[in-house]
Amino acid sequence: MNNSDLVKRDLSVLWHPCTQMKDHEWLPMIPIRRAEGIWLEDYDGRRYLDAISSWWVNLFGHANPDINAAVQQQAQTLEHVMLAGFTHEAVVELSERLVQLTPAGLERCFYADNGSAAVEVALKMSFHYWRNKGHTRKTRFITLENSYHGETLGALAVGNVQLYKDTYAPLLMQTISVPSPDCFYRQPGESCAAYSERMFQPMRAALERHAEEVCAVIVEPLVQCAGGMRMYDPVYLKLLRAACDEYGVHLIADEIAVGFGRTGTLFACEQAAVSPDFLCLSKGLTGGYLPLSVVLTGDQVYQAFYDDYGSLKAFLHSHSYTGNALACRAALATLDLFQQRDTLAANRSLAAAMARATADLRDHPQVAEVRQTGMILAIEMIKNKFERIPYPWQERRGLRVYEHGLANGVLLRPLGNVVYFMPPYIIEPEQIALLAEVARQGIDKAVAD
Ligand SMILES: *Cc1c(COP(=O)(O)O)cnc(C)c1O
Repeated sequence: MNNSDLVKRDLSVLWHPCTQMKDHEWLPMIPIRRAEGIWLEDYDGRRYLDAISSWWVNLFGHANPDINAAVQQQAQTLEHVMLAGFTHEAVVELSERLVQLTPAGLERCFYADNGSAAVEVALKMSFHYWRNKGHTRKTRFITLENSYHGETLGALAVGNVQLYKDTYAPLLMQTISVPSPDCFYRQPGESCAAYSERMFQPMRAALERHAEEVCAVIVEPLVQCAGGMRMYDPVYLKLLRAACDEYGVHLIADEIAVGFGRTGTLFACEQAAVSPDFLCLSKGLTGGYLPLSVVLTGDQVYQAFYDDYGSLKAFLHSHSYTGNALACRAALATLDLFQQRDTLAANRSLAAAMARATADLRDHPQVAEVRQTGMILAIEMIKNKFERIPYPWQERRGLRVYEHGLANGVLLRPLGNVVYFMPPYIIEPEQIALLAEVARQGIDKAVAD
Protein backbone atom coordinates (compact mmCIF):
# COMPACT_ATOMS: atom_id res chain seq x y z
CA MET A 1 0.00 0.00 0.00
CA ASN A 2 1.20 3.55 -0.73
CA ASN A 3 -0.12 7.03 0.05
CA SER A 4 -2.37 7.36 -2.95
CA ASP A 5 -4.07 3.97 -2.45
CA LEU A 6 -5.23 4.87 1.03
CA VAL A 7 -6.13 8.46 0.15
CA LYS A 8 -8.33 7.25 -2.69
CA ARG A 9 -10.24 4.94 -0.34
CA ASP A 10 -10.41 7.66 2.30
CA LEU A 11 -11.88 10.26 -0.04
CA SER A 12 -14.70 7.96 -1.04
CA VAL A 13 -15.94 7.32 2.53
CA LEU A 14 -14.65 9.97 4.95
CA TRP A 15 -15.55 13.54 5.85
CA HIS A 16 -12.66 15.19 7.70
CA PRO A 17 -12.80 17.60 10.65
CA CYS A 18 -12.34 21.34 10.17
CA THR A 19 -11.80 20.82 6.43
CA GLN A 20 -13.27 22.12 3.19
CA MET A 21 -13.17 18.72 1.52
CA LYS A 22 -12.91 20.31 -1.93
CA ASP A 23 -9.39 21.48 -0.99
CA HIS A 24 -8.34 17.86 -1.30
CA GLU A 25 -8.79 18.08 -5.07
CA TRP A 26 -5.37 19.79 -5.02
CA LEU A 27 -4.09 19.57 -1.44
CA PRO A 28 -2.67 16.12 -0.72
CA MET A 29 -3.85 14.34 2.38
CA ILE A 30 -1.15 12.52 4.34
CA PRO A 31 -1.92 8.96 5.40
CA ILE A 32 0.16 8.03 8.41
CA ARG A 33 1.36 4.46 8.72
CA ARG A 34 3.23 4.72 11.97
CA ALA A 35 4.66 7.20 14.42
CA GLU A 36 7.45 7.21 16.93
CA GLY A 37 8.68 9.96 19.21
CA ILE A 38 8.33 13.26 17.39
CA TRP A 39 8.09 11.66 13.93
CA LEU A 40 5.09 10.70 11.84
CA GLU A 41 5.73 8.43 8.86
CA ASP A 42 3.54 8.09 5.77
CA TYR A 43 3.00 5.12 3.43
CA ASP A 44 5.59 6.40 0.99
CA GLY A 45 8.19 6.36 3.78
CA ARG A 46 8.38 10.15 4.21
CA ARG A 47 8.72 11.49 7.74
CA TYR A 48 7.21 14.60 9.33
CA LEU A 49 8.29 16.28 12.53
CA ASP A 50 5.11 16.78 14.57
CA ALA A 51 5.67 20.42 15.57
CA ILE A 52 2.10 20.92 16.77
CA SER A 53 1.75 17.77 18.86
CA SER A 54 -1.09 16.47 16.67
CA TRP A 55 -3.42 19.33 17.55
CA TRP A 56 -1.81 20.04 20.92
CA VAL A 57 -2.47 16.68 22.57
CA ASN A 58 0.84 14.85 22.47
CA LEU A 59 3.31 15.53 25.29
CA PHE A 60 5.88 12.73 25.40
CA GLY A 61 6.02 11.54 21.83
CA HIS A 62 4.12 9.01 19.76
CA ALA A 63 4.27 5.32 20.64
CA ASN A 64 5.73 6.20 24.01
CA PRO A 65 6.90 2.92 25.57
CA ASP A 66 5.71 3.79 29.09
CA ILE A 67 2.24 4.88 28.07
CA ASN A 68 1.98 1.91 25.71
CA ALA A 69 2.78 -0.48 28.55
CA ALA A 70 0.27 1.14 30.91
CA VAL A 71 -2.55 0.99 28.36
CA GLN A 72 -1.73 -2.57 27.36
CA GLN A 73 -1.70 -3.75 30.94
CA GLN A 74 -4.99 -2.03 31.70
CA ALA A 75 -6.58 -3.55 28.59
CA GLN A 76 -5.84 -6.99 29.95
CA THR A 77 -7.71 -6.36 33.20
CA LEU A 78 -10.48 -3.85 32.57
CA GLU A 79 -11.08 -1.86 29.40
CA HIS A 80 -14.15 0.04 30.55
CA VAL A 81 -16.99 0.06 32.99
CA MET A 82 -19.78 2.59 33.36
CA LEU A 83 -19.01 5.16 36.04
CA ALA A 84 -22.53 5.57 37.45
CA GLY A 85 -22.86 3.17 40.35
CA PHE A 86 -19.42 1.70 39.59
CA THR A 87 -15.82 2.75 39.95
CA HIS A 88 -12.32 1.43 39.23
CA GLU A 89 -8.79 1.84 40.45
CA ALA A 90 -7.46 3.90 37.55
CA VAL A 91 -10.10 6.60 37.87
CA VAL A 92 -9.73 6.81 41.66
CA GLU A 93 -5.95 7.04 41.46
CA LEU A 94 -6.11 9.66 38.70
CA SER A 95 -8.59 11.77 40.65
CA GLU A 96 -6.40 11.65 43.76
CA ARG A 97 -3.42 12.82 41.78
CA LEU A 98 -5.27 15.57 39.93
CA VAL A 99 -6.67 16.95 43.17
CA GLN A 100 -3.15 17.01 44.55
CA LEU A 101 -1.53 18.58 41.48
CA THR A 102 -4.07 21.27 40.60
CA PRO A 103 -4.39 24.63 42.38
CA ALA A 104 -5.74 24.58 45.94
CA GLY A 105 -9.46 24.24 46.50
CA LEU A 106 -10.13 21.91 43.57
CA GLU A 107 -11.17 18.72 45.29
CA ARG A 108 -13.69 16.97 43.06
CA CYS A 109 -13.24 15.45 39.61
CA PHE A 110 -16.11 15.07 37.13
CA TYR A 111 -15.14 13.26 33.93
CA ALA A 112 -16.21 13.54 30.31
CA ASP A 113 -14.60 12.39 27.11
CA ASN A 114 -13.48 15.47 25.18
CA GLY A 115 -12.74 19.13 25.76
CA SER A 116 -16.00 20.53 24.47
CA ALA A 117 -17.92 18.18 26.73
CA ALA A 118 -15.87 19.36 29.72
CA VAL A 119 -16.80 22.95 28.91
CA GLU A 120 -20.47 21.97 28.71
CA VAL A 121 -20.14 20.30 32.12
CA ALA A 122 -18.58 23.41 33.68
CA LEU A 123 -21.26 25.72 32.22
CA LYS A 124 -24.10 23.47 33.34
CA MET A 125 -22.59 22.92 36.79
CA SER A 126 -22.12 26.63 37.38
CA PHE A 127 -25.67 27.45 36.29
CA HIS A 128 -27.07 24.55 38.30
CA TYR A 129 -25.08 25.54 41.39
CA TRP A 130 -26.67 28.99 41.43
CA ARG A 131 -30.11 27.49 40.83
CA ASN A 132 -29.65 25.04 43.70
CA LYS A 133 -28.69 28.01 45.84
CA GLY A 134 -31.86 29.86 44.84
CA HIS A 135 -30.23 32.35 42.44
CA THR A 136 -32.52 31.60 39.53
CA ARG A 137 -31.79 34.87 37.72
CA LYS A 138 -28.26 33.75 36.97
CA THR A 139 -28.45 32.35 33.43
CA ARG A 140 -25.68 34.07 31.47
CA PHE A 141 -21.94 33.81 30.88
CA ILE A 142 -19.21 36.37 30.30
CA THR A 143 -16.61 35.47 27.71
CA LEU A 144 -13.58 37.12 26.10
CA GLU A 145 -13.37 38.19 22.49
CA ASN A 146 -11.25 35.85 20.38
CA SER A 147 -11.70 32.98 22.85
CA TYR A 148 -12.26 29.35 21.91
CA HIS A 149 -13.90 26.71 24.07
CA GLY A 150 -14.93 23.95 21.66
CA GLU A 151 -17.49 23.07 19.02
CA THR A 152 -20.64 21.80 20.70
CA LEU A 153 -23.39 24.42 20.87
CA GLY A 154 -22.82 25.55 24.46
CA ALA A 155 -19.04 25.62 24.07
CA LEU A 156 -19.36 27.38 20.71
CA ALA A 157 -21.66 29.98 22.27
CA VAL A 158 -19.11 30.96 24.92
CA GLY A 159 -16.32 30.98 22.34
CA ASN A 160 -15.68 33.92 20.10
CA VAL A 161 -13.69 32.93 17.00
CA GLN A 162 -15.91 34.16 14.18
CA LEU A 163 -14.72 31.62 11.64
CA TYR A 164 -16.16 28.76 13.67
CA LYS A 165 -19.11 30.58 15.22
CA ASP A 166 -20.88 32.98 12.89
CA THR A 167 -22.65 30.40 10.72
CA TYR A 168 -24.34 28.89 13.76
CA ALA A 169 -25.17 32.16 15.51
CA PRO A 170 -28.96 31.64 15.30
CA LEU A 171 -28.58 28.43 17.32
CA LEU A 172 -26.46 29.82 20.12
CA MET A 173 -27.22 31.27 23.54
CA GLN A 174 -26.36 34.94 23.90
CA THR A 175 -23.27 35.68 25.92
CA ILE A 176 -21.76 38.88 27.27
CA SER A 177 -18.58 39.42 25.33
CA VAL A 178 -15.72 41.53 26.66
CA PRO A 179 -12.56 42.72 24.83
CA SER A 180 -9.56 40.44 25.22
CA PRO A 181 -6.42 41.41 27.18
CA ASP A 182 -4.47 40.04 24.17
CA CYS A 183 -1.12 41.90 24.21
CA PHE A 184 -0.85 41.93 20.43
CA TYR A 185 -2.80 45.18 20.59
CA ARG A 186 -0.72 46.96 23.24
CA GLN A 187 0.55 50.42 22.35
CA PRO A 188 4.17 50.90 21.25
CA GLY A 189 6.27 51.03 24.41
CA GLU A 190 3.48 49.63 26.58
CA SER A 191 4.29 46.45 28.52
CA CYS A 192 2.12 43.38 28.19
CA ALA A 193 1.33 43.57 31.90
CA ALA A 194 0.26 47.20 31.68
CA TYR A 195 -1.93 46.46 28.68
CA SER A 196 -3.59 43.39 30.22
CA GLU A 197 -4.24 45.38 33.37
CA ARG A 198 -5.73 48.27 31.41
CA MET A 199 -7.93 45.83 29.50
CA PHE A 200 -9.43 44.60 32.73
CA GLN A 201 -11.60 47.72 32.89
CA PRO A 202 -14.27 46.45 30.45
CA MET A 203 -14.40 43.16 32.34
CA ARG A 204 -14.93 44.94 35.62
CA ALA A 205 -17.63 47.08 34.02
CA ALA A 206 -19.39 43.99 32.63
CA LEU A 207 -19.31 42.30 36.04
CA GLU A 208 -20.60 45.39 37.75
CA ARG A 209 -23.43 45.75 35.29
CA HIS A 210 -24.45 42.09 34.88
CA ALA A 211 -23.38 40.22 38.05
CA GLU A 212 -26.99 39.53 39.05
CA GLU A 213 -27.66 37.57 35.87
CA VAL A 214 -24.20 36.03 35.36
CA CYS A 215 -23.24 32.49 36.42
CA ALA A 216 -19.57 32.56 35.43
CA VAL A 217 -16.76 34.12 33.46
CA ILE A 218 -14.97 31.61 31.24
CA VAL A 219 -11.40 32.22 30.07
CA GLU A 220 -8.44 30.43 28.53
CA PRO A 221 -5.68 31.31 31.01
CA LEU A 222 -2.67 33.16 29.46
CA VAL A 223 -2.99 31.97 25.84
CA GLN A 224 -5.98 32.13 23.48
CA CYS A 225 -4.78 29.22 21.43
CA ALA A 226 -7.31 28.63 18.63
CA GLY A 227 -7.70 32.40 18.40
CA GLY A 228 -4.16 32.61 16.98
CA MET A 229 -1.95 31.90 20.02
CA ARG A 230 -2.68 35.36 21.39
CA MET A 231 -1.12 35.87 24.82
CA TYR A 232 -1.79 38.00 27.88
CA ASP A 233 -0.28 38.72 31.26
CA PRO A 234 -1.12 36.77 34.46
CA VAL A 235 -2.11 40.04 36.16
CA TYR A 236 -5.42 39.79 34.29
CA LEU A 237 -6.24 36.48 35.96
CA LYS A 238 -5.39 37.89 39.37
CA LEU A 239 -7.74 40.84 38.85
CA LEU A 240 -10.41 38.57 37.42
CA ARG A 241 -10.28 36.18 40.37
CA ALA A 242 -10.67 39.05 42.83
CA ALA A 243 -13.52 40.63 40.87
CA CYS A 244 -15.39 37.33 40.47
CA ASP A 245 -15.27 36.95 44.26
CA GLU A 246 -16.36 40.52 44.75
CA TYR A 247 -19.36 40.19 42.44
CA GLY A 248 -20.38 36.62 43.30
CA VAL A 249 -19.63 35.07 39.92
CA HIS A 250 -17.78 31.81 39.17
CA LEU A 251 -14.49 31.69 37.33
CA ILE A 252 -14.13 28.86 34.82
CA ALA A 253 -10.54 28.23 33.67
CA ASP A 254 -10.44 26.35 30.39
CA GLU A 255 -6.94 24.86 30.51
CA ILE A 256 -7.76 22.24 27.91
CA ALA A 257 -4.94 23.52 25.67
CA VAL A 258 -2.63 25.26 28.15
CA GLY A 259 -2.70 22.71 30.98
CA PHE A 260 0.01 20.13 31.65
CA GLY A 261 3.07 22.29 31.32
CA ARG A 262 2.41 24.13 28.06
CA THR A 263 2.87 27.60 29.53
CA GLY A 264 5.87 26.77 31.72
CA THR A 265 3.98 25.81 34.87
CA LEU A 266 1.95 22.63 35.22
CA PHE A 267 -1.22 24.74 35.05
CA ALA A 268 -1.36 28.28 33.67
CA CYS A 269 -3.40 29.57 36.65
CA GLU A 270 -0.37 28.98 38.86
CA GLN A 271 1.39 31.95 37.25
CA ALA A 272 -1.29 34.22 38.68
CA ALA A 273 -1.48 32.24 41.92
CA VAL A 274 -5.24 31.82 41.54
CA SER A 275 -7.64 28.90 41.83
CA PRO A 276 -10.65 28.87 39.54
CA ASP A 277 -14.05 27.57 40.64
CA PHE A 278 -13.98 25.15 37.72
CA LEU A 279 -10.89 23.86 35.92
CA CYS A 280 -11.40 22.12 32.55
CA LEU A 281 -8.67 19.74 31.37
CA SER A 282 -8.33 17.47 28.34
CA LYS A 283 -5.90 17.34 25.36
CA GLY A 284 -2.55 16.62 27.09
CA LEU A 285 -4.31 14.83 29.95
CA THR A 286 -3.70 11.41 28.38
CA GLY A 287 -0.43 12.40 26.72
CA GLY A 288 -2.24 12.42 23.38
CA TYR A 289 -3.35 8.81 23.56
CA LEU A 290 -7.06 8.62 24.25
CA PRO A 291 -10.00 11.00 24.56
CA LEU A 292 -10.63 12.01 28.16
CA SER A 293 -11.55 15.23 29.92
CA VAL A 294 -12.20 16.32 33.45
CA VAL A 295 -13.72 19.25 35.30
CA LEU A 296 -12.35 19.91 38.77
CA THR A 297 -14.30 21.95 41.27
CA GLY A 298 -14.40 22.64 44.99
CA ASP A 299 -16.29 21.26 47.92
CA GLN A 300 -18.64 24.21 48.14
CA VAL A 301 -19.97 23.50 44.65
CA TYR A 302 -20.15 19.78 45.35
CA GLN A 303 -22.14 20.31 48.55
CA ALA A 304 -24.73 22.44 46.73
CA PHE A 305 -25.75 19.33 44.78
CA TYR A 306 -25.56 16.90 47.70
CA ASP A 307 -29.05 16.23 49.03
CA ASP A 308 -31.89 13.69 49.15
CA TYR A 309 -32.80 12.43 45.69
CA GLY A 310 -36.26 14.00 45.86
CA SER A 311 -34.80 17.50 46.05
CA LEU A 312 -33.79 17.11 42.39
CA LYS A 313 -30.51 18.87 43.04
CA ALA A 314 -28.29 16.14 41.56
CA PHE A 315 -26.13 16.77 38.52
CA LEU A 316 -27.75 14.30 36.11
CA HIS A 317 -25.17 14.59 33.36
CA SER A 318 -23.24 11.69 31.83
CA HIS A 319 -21.39 10.46 28.78
CA SER A 320 -21.12 6.81 27.82
CA TYR A 321 -17.33 6.76 28.08
CA THR A 322 -17.05 8.89 31.23
CA GLY A 323 -13.89 7.93 33.12
CA ASN A 324 -12.77 5.26 30.66
CA ALA A 325 -10.19 3.00 32.32
CA LEU A 326 -7.74 2.85 29.40
CA ALA A 327 -7.75 6.62 29.11
CA CYS A 328 -7.25 7.04 32.87
CA ARG A 329 -4.25 4.68 32.72
CA ALA A 330 -2.73 6.68 29.88
CA ALA A 331 -3.22 9.81 31.99
CA LEU A 332 -1.54 8.22 35.02
CA ALA A 333 1.43 7.11 32.92
CA THR A 334 1.66 10.67 31.56
CA LEU A 335 1.74 12.14 35.07
CA ASP A 336 4.49 9.64 35.97
CA LEU A 337 6.55 10.89 33.04
CA PHE A 338 6.31 14.47 34.31
CA GLN A 339 7.93 13.37 37.55
CA GLN A 340 10.51 10.98 36.14
CA ARG A 341 11.81 13.47 33.59
CA ASP A 342 11.54 16.68 35.62
CA THR A 343 9.68 17.93 32.59
CA LEU A 344 9.04 21.51 33.66
CA ALA A 345 12.75 22.17 34.21
CA ALA A 346 13.70 20.50 30.92
CA ASN A 347 11.04 22.52 29.10
CA ARG A 348 12.59 25.77 30.29
CA SER A 349 15.72 25.08 28.29
CA LEU A 350 13.72 23.84 25.29
CA ALA A 351 11.64 27.02 25.41
CA ALA A 352 14.83 29.10 25.50
CA ALA A 353 16.14 27.16 22.49
CA MET A 354 12.90 27.87 20.58
CA ALA A 355 13.30 31.58 21.38
CA ARG A 356 16.93 31.65 20.19
CA ALA A 357 16.14 29.72 17.01
CA THR A 358 13.49 32.26 15.97
CA ALA A 359 15.09 35.46 17.33
CA ASP A 360 16.06 36.78 13.89
CA LEU A 361 12.46 36.52 12.68
CA ARG A 362 11.55 39.42 14.95
CA ASP A 363 13.09 41.82 12.44
CA HIS A 364 11.51 40.19 9.40
CA PRO A 365 9.54 42.85 7.48
CA GLN A 366 6.51 40.58 7.23
CA VAL A 367 6.54 39.37 10.82
CA ALA A 368 4.44 41.48 13.18
CA GLU A 369 5.56 39.70 16.30
CA VAL A 370 7.27 36.59 17.65
CA ARG A 371 5.62 35.80 20.98
CA GLN A 372 6.09 33.00 23.43
CA THR A 373 4.66 31.57 26.60
CA GLY A 374 6.63 28.51 27.68
CA MET A 375 6.34 25.74 25.10
CA ILE A 376 4.08 27.77 22.79
CA LEU A 377 5.85 30.03 20.30
CA ALA A 378 3.95 31.97 17.63
CA ILE A 379 5.11 33.98 14.64
CA GLU A 380 2.47 36.31 13.23
CA MET A 381 2.79 37.22 9.56
CA ILE A 382 1.54 40.65 8.57
CA LYS A 383 1.07 42.49 5.30
CA ASN A 384 2.20 45.89 6.56
CA LYS A 385 4.16 45.86 9.76
CA PHE A 386 4.18 49.61 10.37
CA GLU A 387 0.56 50.32 9.63
CA ARG A 388 -0.40 46.97 11.15
CA ILE A 389 -2.44 45.80 8.17
CA PRO A 390 -3.05 42.05 8.24
CA TYR A 391 -3.12 39.81 5.19
CA PRO A 392 -6.69 39.20 4.07
CA TRP A 393 -7.75 35.73 5.25
CA GLN A 394 -8.80 34.84 1.69
CA GLU A 395 -5.14 34.77 0.67
CA ARG A 396 -4.53 31.77 2.91
CA ARG A 397 -0.86 32.64 3.50
CA GLY A 398 -0.62 30.18 6.37
CA LEU A 399 -1.59 27.35 4.06
CA ARG A 400 1.53 28.06 2.00
CA VAL A 401 3.63 27.58 5.13
CA TYR A 402 1.78 24.32 5.80
CA GLU A 403 2.55 23.07 2.29
CA HIS A 404 6.18 24.13 2.50
CA GLY A 405 6.47 22.37 5.85
CA LEU A 406 5.10 19.09 4.56
CA ALA A 407 7.38 19.20 1.52
CA ASN A 408 10.29 19.58 3.95
CA GLY A 409 9.37 17.05 6.59
CA VAL A 410 7.74 19.29 9.18
CA LEU A 411 4.10 19.37 10.25
CA LEU A 412 3.18 23.00 10.88
CA ARG A 413 -0.48 23.90 10.70
CA PRO A 414 -0.75 27.69 10.93
CA LEU A 415 -3.87 29.34 12.32
CA GLY A 416 -4.62 31.90 9.60
CA ASN A 417 -1.51 34.10 9.44
CA VAL A 418 -0.03 32.72 12.65
CA VAL A 419 2.69 30.08 12.36
CA TYR A 420 3.29 28.41 15.68
CA PHE A 421 5.36 25.73 17.40
CA MET A 422 3.72 23.65 20.10
CA PRO A 423 5.93 20.56 20.03
CA PRO A 424 5.95 17.47 22.21
CA TYR A 425 8.24 17.90 25.22
CA ILE A 426 10.67 15.32 23.86
CA ILE A 427 11.81 17.60 21.04
CA GLU A 428 15.59 17.91 20.78
CA PRO A 429 17.68 21.03 20.11
CA GLU A 430 18.62 19.91 16.56
CA GLN A 431 14.97 19.33 15.81
CA ILE A 432 14.15 22.82 17.06
CA ALA A 433 16.77 24.17 14.66
CA LEU A 434 15.24 22.22 11.76
CA LEU A 435 11.79 23.42 12.69
CA ALA A 436 12.85 27.05 12.84
CA GLU A 437 14.69 26.79 9.51
CA VAL A 438 11.73 25.24 7.70
CA ALA A 439 9.36 27.79 9.25
CA ARG A 440 11.59 30.66 8.15
CA GLN A 441 11.75 29.37 4.57
CA GLY A 442 8.01 28.76 4.58
CA ILE A 443 7.30 32.28 5.80
CA ASP A 444 9.61 33.78 3.15
CA LYS A 445 7.75 31.80 0.52
CA ALA A 446 4.32 32.65 1.89
CA VAL A 447 4.96 36.41 1.88
CA ALA A 448 6.85 36.51 -1.42
CA ASP A 449 4.08 38.03 -3.57
C1 LIG B 1 -9.36 22.12 21.94
C2 LIG B 1 -10.02 23.01 22.91
C3 LIG B 1 -11.32 22.75 23.36
C4 LIG B 1 -12.17 21.65 22.81
O1 LIG B 1 -11.66 20.39 23.04
P1 LIG B 1 -12.13 19.18 22.08
O2 LIG B 1 -11.58 17.97 22.72
O3 LIG B 1 -11.53 19.46 20.73
O4 LIG B 1 -13.62 19.19 22.05
C5 LIG B 1 -11.83 23.59 24.33
N1 LIG B 1 -11.12 24.61 24.84
C6 LIG B 1 -9.86 24.88 24.43
C7 LIG B 1 -9.11 26.01 25.05
C8 LIG B 1 -9.28 24.10 23.43
O5 LIG B 1 -8.05 24.41 22.97
